[in-house]
Amino acid sequence: MAVSTFKRGLRLNTRKHATEGFPVELAPLPKQVVIPINQHFGAPNKSLVNVGDKVKRGQRIAEGAAPGPMTVPVHASISGIVKKIENRLQSNNTEGPCIIIEAEEGVSDETDFMPPLDPFACTKEEALQRIRDAGITGMGGAGFPTHVKLSPPPNKPIDVIIADGAECEPYLTTDEALMTEKPDLLIKGLAIVMKLTGVGKAIIGMEDNKAKLIPMLEQELRLGGYGGDISLGLCRTLYPQGSEKLLIKALMGREVPSGGLPMDAGCIVSNVGSLVAIAEAFTLGKPLIDRDLTVSGGACKLPKNIRAPIGTILTDLPPQFMDIDYSKLRKVLFGGPMMGTAVPTLNIPIQKNTSGIILMTEEETWLDAEGPCLRCGRCIRNCSCKLSPVIMNNAIEAGDLDEAVKVGLMDCFECGACTYVCPARIKLTQRFRVGKQRLRLKVQAAQAAQTKAQTAAAPAAPASNAKS
Ligand code: SF4
Ligand code: SF4
Repeated sequence: MAVSTFKRGLRLNTRKHATEGFPVELAPLPKQVVIPINQHFGAPNKSLVNVGDKVKRGQRIAEGAAPGPMTVPVHASISGIVKKIENRLQSNNTEGPCIIIEAEEGVSDETDFMPPLDPFACTKEEALQRIRDAGITGMGGAGFPTHVKLSPPPNKPIDVIIADGAECEPYLTTDEALMTEKPDLLIKGLAIVMKLTGVGKAIIGMEDNKAKLIPMLEQELRLGGYGGDISLGLCRTLYPQGSEKLLIKALMGREVPSGGLPMDAGCIVSNVGSLVAIAEAFTLGKPLIDRDLTVSGGACKLPKNIRAPIGTILTDLPPQFMDIDYSKLRKVLFGGPMMGTAVPTLNIPIQKNTSGIILMTEEETWLDAEGPCLRCGRCIRNCSCKLSPVIMNNAIEAGDLDEAVKVGLMDCFECGACTYVCPARIKLTQRFRVGKQRLRLKVQAAQAAQTKAQTAAAPAAPASNAKS
C-alpha cells in the first residue's frame, strides 16, 4: 500500500512503547465524578439537576441554556446522587460549572440509555438528532459538536469522509487500541456518517506505524458489508500528521484554503473515537459518558490505556490500578506533549476530549528559561502551515495583534512544532494561544460596546404602566 505524506513535519521520538499494543483496561468505578456542564465548542449549557437529585448513568444532566444548534448535552457517567454544583478547574485551565455526582451503593449498574435506533432506516434529521442527543463532540480536539460538523451547508459539497486514526502525538496509543478492539464499530460509525451525509467514499487514515492493523481492518471491511467505497490510507509517521488539514493534504492531495475548514476541500474529518461513539449511540442508545485515554509518562508506574467514566479524577482511582510516583512528577499534561495543556494539579476531571494524561519527569520535559531569538529560521522551516512563527511572535510581543493576524495567527493550529525546534526555547505556541485569546476578548469587548451604544441610541419605549 502506498504511503502518502505532506511537506515539512517532524520525526519525533514517539515514546509510545510504554502502552503500545496494550488493551484498554476498564477503570474501577470512581466514588465520585466531576462533570463539566460545558464540554463543547458553542453556546453554554445549563444544569437540569439540583443538589440532592438521584441520577442514573446515561441520564441527561445539562443541555443548551438557549435554543440553537451549537450545543450538545452532557450526561451522568455514573449512577448516584448530585452532591454539589460548583465551579471547578478544568483541563483548559479555566474554572467552569461542574456537577459532582457521588456513587451510590447498590445502584451503580442502573442506566438511563436511549432506545436503540436503526441508522439505516431512520431519516437524516433523526440520525443527526440522535448524534446530538448522545452528546457527541470531536474527541480529538476542541469539542466541536459532531452533528454540526455532519451538516455542512449546501454550497460546500462533500465527496469524502476521512476517519482520523493518525494519532501522531507522542505517548498516545488509545486510538490504536480502539481500532484494534472495536474495528466493527469504527466501520459501522463511518457507514452511518456516509449514509446520513450521502457521501459514497470514505478513507480510514492512519500513520504507517499502525500498518499492522491493515489485515484486520480489511477483514472487518469485508465482513461489514456496508457498501460504499471505504478504503484504508497509510501516511508516513510524521508530526503533525493527525491535523485535519495535513491528513487531507496527504490522503487527497488537496489544500484547505487559509482560514478555511475541511469542508472547503470537500472533506469531513472525524476522529475514530467519535465514529465509535456514533455507532454506540445507535446500537446501544449509549450517550458519550466514557472516555478511552492513555495514561503514561515517566512518573506513571503503571502506564496503560484505560476506559473511565467522564468526570473521573485520576487520583480517585485505586493505586493498584493507577500508581503515580509523586517524587518524580514534574509536569502534568492533559493531551499529548505537543498540543496538550500543562495543568497545575491532578485534581482535574477527564473530559470528552481528554485523549491522554501524561505524567512527566524532569528528564522528559524542558524547564529551560527562554533565551533571545537567534534568527536561525528553524521555526519557519518546520511549520507545516508555511507560517513565520518568529514574525507572529514579534508582533504579539509588540502588542500588535492586527499584524499578527495579518501574518497568519488564525491559520496556526497550535501544533507546537515551532516551539519544539526553537533552540532559544521561546514559547512560541503558548504565545499564539494567548494572542488568540486576547483577540477573542477584544472582539467580545467591541461587540459589548456596540450593543451598549445601540441600546443608548434607541428611543425609549413608552411606559405602559405609568401612574396618572
Ligand atoms: S504552532 Fe502554529 S506556527 Fe508553530 S509550527 Fe505549528 S502551525 Fe506553525
Ligand atoms: S526557531 Fe527560535 S530562535 Fe530560531 S528564528 Fe525561530 S524563534 Fe528565533
